Amino acid sequence: MTTVTRFAPSPTGLLHLGNIRTALINWLYARTNNGKFILRIDDTDLERSKDEYISQIKYDLDWLGIDYDETFNQSSRFDRYREQFEKLKADGRIYPCYETPEELERKRKLLIAAGGKQVYDRSAMELTDQQKKDYEAQGRKPHWRFLLKTERMKWDDLLKGEIDIDLTSLSDPVLFREDGVPLYTFSSAVDDIDYGITNVIRGDDHTSNTAVQVEIINALDQNKITFAHHALLKASSGDKLSKRDNVISISSFREANMEPISILSLLATIGTSNSIELKDNIDQIKSEFKLSTISTSPGRIEIDVLNALNKKQVQKYNFSEIEERLKKIDEKIDQKFWETIRGNLNVVEDIKQWTDIVFNSETIKPSDKDYIKIAMELIPDDPWNDETWGQWTSAIKEKTGRKGKELFLPLREAFTGLNHGPEMKLLIQLLGREKIIERVEL
Ligand code: GLU
Repeated sequence: MTTVTRFAPSPTGLLHLGNIRTALINWLYARTNNGKFILRIDDTDLERSKDEYISQIKYDLDWLGIDYDETFNQSSRFDRYREQFEKLKADGRIYPCYETPEELERKRKLLIAAGGKQVYDRSAMELTDQQKKDYEAQGRKPHWRFLLKTERMKWDDLLKGEIDIDLTSLSDPVLFREDGVPLYTFSSAVDDIDYGITNVIRGDDHTSNTAVQVEIINALDQNKITFAHHALLKASSGDKLSKRDNVISISSFREANMEPISILSLLATIGTSNSIELKDNIDQIKSEFKLSTISTSPGRIEIDVLNALNKKQVQKYNFSEIEERLKKIDEKIDQKFWETIRGNLNVVEDIKQWTDIVFNSETIKPSDKDYIKIAMELIPDDPWNDETWGQWTSAIKEKTGRKGKELFLPLREAFTGLNHGPEMKLLIQLLGREKIIERVEL
């Protein structure tokens, strides 16, 4: 049997690191088992789903290199859900309910007050045909619940091991709303059957959904899906991640010019028994993937760690690998420029700050004018090489008696306007003798 996995985001917001981690795990599981990976867009909630989010989801996956063999939107399958619903109805597994949200809420509060299980009491099953007619005559439309019959749902979870859920502690799930819209619990079960999904790997917030969905699947067919529930990632504060947390959205990282491989490396190792480290490429991640290394306790996202991975990747780039990208930032960036500056960059595009410094023609007024004047009198002749800075600063030292920071920092500031940056012995070669003379305003 071919392995088939799926990633099923709801297009109600931007994908964040937690969502993409689930996508990556499913993709890796499919790709390492010679299987298929499907992108399913869970857009049955037509009011909250947005086309722009669907495009963003696809763009994010594409940008990260997570390819899918097939994609579809649940909104295109309403007829199929209706068909399967009718089947369950004919089998006596579905019953209409007429309670309003307020009535349900009141029932819930009473149950809480009585200290019992907060489970729907199935009173709608007792309604006579006449009572149903009366409700409908009042203009009420029913929502439809699925009758759970199993008392305990057990399965062998690929990540969590033996699971045993007491289904009597869960309400009969609503499968269709009063306005005819199918709900996720149902549409997902129908799709998982129809698309031959063999493995559902998702966050452990779905564990009780799984219990219910397995019962629905069994009512329609026979469950053949193996489930795995991973712990959800958390924010560094320990809080739950939210789609509203734009700071961790994939698009925000893209806009910040983060490298896809840094994000993939983080997501492939966070919350696993392996250490977080930068990988060479997605193929390496694939070749190292083992579902069993995924931990059942939640990993915490530390943005500093992601930044450190990115910095490492930037430093790893050879000029030839990113030449085109650099030329788009500034035509004048050459190999020497790149090699001098890359150690100071968090993201490649930050190099713009350095092309501005090296190529602009603005002058700088040094604060330590007398000292800089002496330095400029001692400026070595061309041609400059790796020895020049040492020779020049030795001469300055001899003349002024300065050493250490006192000697070097005013020079750096006078030539670049900054108090930090790449090694001066290299930087002065990028600037060149002429530029330094022009720049220092005495
Ligand atoms: N749309 C659901 C979610 O985003 C999918 C869950 C699943 O079945 O994988 O949580």
